[in-house]
Amino acid sequence: MLSLTVLGSGSSGNCAVIRTDRTRLLIDAGLSGRQIMLRLEAVGMKLEDLDGVLLTHEHCDHTAGLEILCRKHQVPLFATPLTQEALQQGTFRKASPRWKLMQTGAPFDFQDLRIECFPVPHDAADPVGFVITDEESRLGVLSDVGFVTNLIRDRLRGAHTLFVEANYDGPLLEADTKRPWATKQRISGRHGHLSNEQTAELLQALAHEDLHHVVLGHLSDDCNCPDIALKKMTAVLRSAGAMDTNVVCAKRSVPLPWMEVARRRVMHSLPAAVAPTAPVSATPEVEPFPSEVNVVAEVEDTYRAFSTSVPNAPTAPQRRKQLSHRREEQPDFWLDTGVA
Ligand SMILES: [Zn+2]
Ligand SMILES: [Zn+2]
Repeated sequence: MLSLTVLGSGSSGNCAVIRTDRTRLLIDAGLSGRQIMLRLEAVGMKLEDLDGVLLTHEHCDHTAGLEILCRKHQVPLFATPLTQEALQQGTFRKASPRWKLMQTGAPFDFQDLRIECFPVPHDAADPVGFVITDEESRLGVLSDVGFVTNLIRDRLRGAHTLFVEANYDGPLLEADTKRPWATKQRISGRHGHLSNEQTAELLQALAHEDLHHVVLGHLSDDCNCPDIALKKMTAVLRSAGAMDTNVVCAKRSVPLPWMEVARRRVMHSLPAAVAPTAPVSATPEVEPFPSEVNVVAEVEDTYRAFSTSVPNAPTAPQRRKQLSHRREEQPDFWLDTGVA
């Protein structure tokens, strides 16, 4: 079972961890080396436990602790060639990292995980998001993105947990008096960051009944407010039929508790008369990995157990109808002149 925690997230530093029984990976290393080690300890891990670091891009709020990590533990760094080049020029003076180069759009297997990175629009050399899957869970990671492309939406579809940026709230950024106009333009531009409004639109498109957690990251201290972001995202998810999705904001200075990426399957046998027979149209696009699993039947099975435990919950067919109806109404907010 794949699990996620966020050690810290915000404009001052971003660092998350994923783990399975066999694999432990950092996603970005934007805290100081010391803070990464302290916070790993706080979630029950040591630096030496890490099998690698996945890098979204070279900005220092995602890479500040890398050199120290590499000096203390020769952990492989997964980056695209252009991100590696950018980091080689600035970050590494006293360490020789072990690079593992990734190609965008080309999934690769690492131990018990399949990892795919995909391009995102942001003002860095070659920024990427990630989809990480094990045989039962699919995690989507998206941070530092100017606008949501069709490609991003497609890659994140069917994720059981989403760790997504919600950097600023539109009205709060507009009202902010600390930042000059040019900085506000950069933040809200097509190679800047996602607003609450943009993230909410993305979540509306990605909502499904098996979306377990949404973790909001990279919240601005001045131009966002966790309560506003949580309310907005929760409302959008509920209206799109994701009634049971847990929404949390990652914190700057303390790690979140570990979260299992997918809900545990409810193990019970159904009477033959009600066993699911037809494919489910709203089934997440989970790629069976590494062996075939009957995801359709399992999703149906899990939902059936959920709906019987919640008074007045719609039946699985009713919920599918609600979801497909909402998708038809969904306007196309995404312009894809950049990366798609
Ligand atoms: Zn960035
Ligand atoms: Zn950042």
